[in-house]
Amino acid sequence: MSVEMESYDIVVAGGGPAGLQFARSVVGRSDYSVAVLEANDELADNDKSTGGTFHQVVEGFGVPDEVVMSESATVQFEGPSARVTLDIPNYVLDFPALLEFLGADAAADGADIHTGVRVREPIVEGGTVVGVRGTRDGESVTYRADLVVDATGPAGTLTTRLHMWDREAAQRGIGKEYEVTGRYDLSSMLFRFDHEYAPGGYAWVFPGGDDVFKVGVCWIDDFYARHSPPDDGAIDDYVERWARSDPRWEVDDVRAVHAGQAISDNSINRRATDGLVAVGDSVSSINPLFGEGIRSGMESAEMAAEVATRALTAGDVSRSFLSAYERRWNREKGSNWKRQRIAGELLYDFDAAQQNRFVANSGRLSDAQLDRLQRYELTLPDLLSLYPFRLDDVRKAPTLLRHLW
Ligand SMILES: Cc1cc2nc3c(=O)[nH]c(=O)nc-3n(C[C@H](O)[C@H](O)[C@H](O)COP(=O)(O)OP(=O)(O)OC[C@H]3O[C@@H](n4cnc5c(N)ncnc54)[C@H](O)[C@@H]3O)c2cc1C
Repeated sequence: MSVEMESYDIVVAGGGPAGLQFARSVVGRSDYSVAVLEANDELADNDKSTGGTFHQVVEGFGVPDEVVMSESATVQFEGPSARVTLDIPNYVLDFPALLEFLGADAAADGADIHTGVRVREPIVEGGTVVGVRGTRDGESVTYRADLVVDATGPAGTLTTRLHMWDREAAQRGIGKEYEVTGRYDLSSMLFRFDHEYAPGGYAWVFPGGDDVFKVGVCWIDDFYARHSPPDDGAIDDYVERWARSDPRWEVDDVRAVHAGQAISDNSINRRATDGLVAVGDSVSSINPLFGEGIRSGMESAEMAAEVATRALTAGDVSRSFLSAYERRWNREKGSNWKRQRIAGELLYDFDAAQQNRFVANSGRLSDAQLDRLQRYELTLPDLLSLYPFRLDDVRKAPTLLRHLW
């Protein structure tokens, strides 16, 4: 069997939003050679995500109109018998089109996008990562690089082997949605917190423009186990029921099915080691409250790319140099993500009365608090004003407070 070998300044494993944004950012700001290695045959084959997002992605990362399926000014929260409309402008993206755009933009500036390459393991010499081994069409391939990036999403192909992220200890969730044609009377993004439709999670409907909408269900496994009926059916039964549940929409045709796993913790993980940085969900950048991961994945990539180019210029890819990225992430995001994890664990464990009170309380948030909710920067007083207290919640305190350290 032949073993092909290629060399680049930077090799990125994984062509999702985080890996592609990393490549796009590096080739946009330097002449370093970059290869992105994606296991799928096409970037657009990564079709798991609903693509709900906000201005930080569309404006912040220059996402063109063709990738935006719809835009709305409000988000609706619902409980079993409560409903509020929140002034939070939002977008729904065509996720495969986003990946194609990011890939084409990175390639236009010189990045090489190699699809059909599955990365198997890091090459480590003298304690430093110096490349990756993988397979393409059943043949072994080796890529050597001054810097390697793990962007393989929840698979964490390199981070788990390098013991940077313990995905087995993280929280697991699943999501499934139908992209459908039909009638959708609302113009908002809708989230419903209701164990009848999504035990231990939430159900959603997002507008997709021109008689298209996306209807889905997700849950966190631990809370699903607590709130689902015994001998429960599959997630498909829930999506099916939710899709047909409400007179405000009517499904004509299911034109695509998207599904995937989210593996998350509070994201305070090791993001750099000698010769490697990790971005996106390969170190759990996904926000643990609502599972929004495109924005945080791309933001982590941007932070990492800035440090990575400086490291290459300085000729120093040691953990000591690269961990400037890890420190910035923890300072700007990670510490907030810890609080969001606690908020999420409470939210998905609420009973129906608490779900209704949570929804009603969110309708009383000020504009400034809504802005902080959208940025995941809720303060402790904000969270207390949202939280529908119940006396026996005290017993949850020891488990929850553990996440703060
Ligand atoms: C059902 C569902 C709905 C979601 N909806 C939203 C939403 O509305 N808004 C939002 O912001 N987030 C949403 N998310 C989360 C969001 O999609 C992820 O957080 C985001 O895609 C993470 O980006 P990433 O680049 O880190 O990883 P990924 O998108 O997982 O990309 C990783 C890439 O690496 C490739 N890969 C994996 N292993 C290897 C390997 N060994 N070698 C080479 N390539 C490899 C994969 O094929 C993939 O293309 C949703 C997730 C799910 C599951």
